Amino acid sequence: MTEIPEDLLLQARALINQAVAEAAAQGRSSIRALYFVIYPAEDILPDVIYAAIEAMRLATPAGEAELHFTQRPGRYVCWNCCGLRYEAVNGVCPNCGHEGLVIPPEMVVALDHIEL
Ligand SMILES: [Zn+2]
Repeated sequence: MTEIPEDLLLQARALINQAVAEAAAQGRSSIRALYFVIYPAEDILPDVIYAAIEAMRLATPAGEAELHFTQRPGRYVCWNCCGLRYEAVNGVCPNCGHEGLVIPPEMVVALDHIEL
């Protein structure tokens, strides 16, 4: 069992709270599906993100919801040519073809929308 970092658990809990609040605002006590987007991070695998969401949604109105995750391209910066910031799947700078550095995202997972 992989250990889940504490800050990732806090992020996951905040997202679940956000989803539950959205459902409550529409007068619903259960959620059919949750749609998340995840961003690449060098030190966090998607499986750990899934595990954090799973752990935090237990005993909430999102406990039985279907989970959907979509991978977004990474955000990179190139220090080879001009400090250009760009999004790419493979990390290669569109200007010079050099591999850029991953910009550490403050959020590795975000709630896209929910289905009631
Ligand atoms: Zn470049």
